[in-house]
Amino acid sequence: MRYTSTRREIACGFREVIASGLAPGGGLYLPHHWPRLDAEALARLATRTYVEALMTVGALFSAEDCDAELWRRVAEGAVRAFRHPAVAPLAEFGPRQWLLELFHGPTLSFKDYGLQPLGRLLDELATAEGRPLFILGATSGDTGSAGIAAFRGRANARIIILHPAGRVSEVQRRQMTTETAENVLNIAIEGSFDDCQRLAKELLAERAAANRETVLSVNSINWGRLLFQTAYHVFIAARLSRHGRRLALAIPSGNFGNALAAIIAARIGAPIAHLIVASNANDALARVLATGVLEAQEPRTTLSPAMDIQVPSNLERLLFMATGADAAATAECMTGLRERGRLALPADWRERLPLTIEAHAISDEETLATMRETYRRTDRIVDPHTAVALAAAGRSGIADEHELVVVSTAHPAKFPDAVRKAIGIAPPVPAPFADLFAREERCARCAPDLAAVRHLIDCSSPAQ
Ligand SMILES: *Cc1c(COP(=O)(O)O)cnc(C)c1O
Repeated sequence: MRYTSTRREIACGFREVIASGLAPGGGLYLPHHWPRLDAEALARLATRTYVEALMTVGALFSAEDCDAELWRRVAEGAVRAFRHPAVAPLAEFGPRQWLLELFHGPTLSFKDYGLQPLGRLLDELATAEGRPLFILGATSGDTGSAGIAAFRGRANARIIILHPAGRVSEVQRRQMTTETAENVLNIAIEGSFDDCQRLAKELLAERAAANRETVLSVNSINWGRLLFQTAYHVFIAARLSRHGRRLALAIPSGNFGNALAAIIAARIGAPIAHLIVASNANDALARVLATGVLEAQEPRTTLSPAMDIQVPSNLERLLFMATGADAAATAECMTGLRERGRLALPADWRERLPLTIEAHAISDEETLATMRETYRRTDRIVDPHTAVALAAAGRSGIADEHELVVVSTAHPAKFPDAVRKAIGIAPPVPAPFADLFAREERCARCAPDLAAVRHLIDCSSPAQ
């Protein structure tokens, strides 16, 4: 299996792709050709466990680069971190309507489903190659804690997470800063999320140039995260297609990783017919999917902060697929976006995709009303991101022939303020959170200055 870049024709192997962030030339990695999940494999997965789904998808996208035993260790290790025996269970909430619960991982958001297997895979490869891992991420929300949970305590890895001081929620901050593993360093940057991202980018570049270790970011463009997210879409599509109906998915979207993984699952043969992409008031994604044109605007703060994004990073991969794998055209569009803040999909983009797509933007008022209505009707407390997807599904014109799956990306306990605002009570607190507010916090604090952050990282290295 060879991989190419969205901006330039190249040929890389799986191990190289998994251990790097951006492709050479600044593009994103995608497979040269799509592997195929045949009907027999799908039928088999319909009755198998999540471990089997992870192994199958991993093997499909790595071919000769990783053996089955490696995938078994990665998959079995990863699922042990989840608190539900089905890992990604489907809860029925209406006739032919399902909620896909992706919040049973250690940090209670769907980010665990990509990062837990990725952490194990990278650890396996780093150990085999005798090369340490240096993981760095900037976070404004759930990625930081999910990254920490995936790499904590791994002898071969260090993980450093930058977050903007005072600008993440208390739950989100505590999920990161109450970590006790020695190989984890949290730094609160006295600045904005953009400062954190800029510093992370600069630090990653200089660490990579030193060439002493494998240097990686855990942000949404990482191919490994997408790969493992494809596994749950394949897993549920295999299960639900037994009913013989067409499948529609509603997905709350920010950087478009989760939704793109659904498109990839459909591309390789999972029977997913329709995608409902749900945005909050930051509606750039909804608009580009409705009109074919993206115009970046200033991000707004909403009740679903993980989706407060104006330029979704994985849109570049959709663009590449929509141009029929034309790297030159994709590169040109991305330059246009950088220089003019505007991007247009090719006129026939819909025909190039393996499923139909619609998109809706949902306001905070609608989000709260949906949380309230869902609670009244089903006794179920949903988080604001899940509510955005439920509201979008409600607006959708799909007819009754579909089996509808609404993807639930976070446990409501992560967003207690929004839940209280919607239904007047606090969400129940699951086990990993039980003593979150009693645990001691450990976090460095630093000015948004490259030299200062570098110094902090060097001084706190556990190995020296
Ligand atoms: C990250 C996140 C999203 C957005 O997912 P993308 O893959 O970036 O589109 C949605 N909901 C929650 C709870 C998240 O943490």
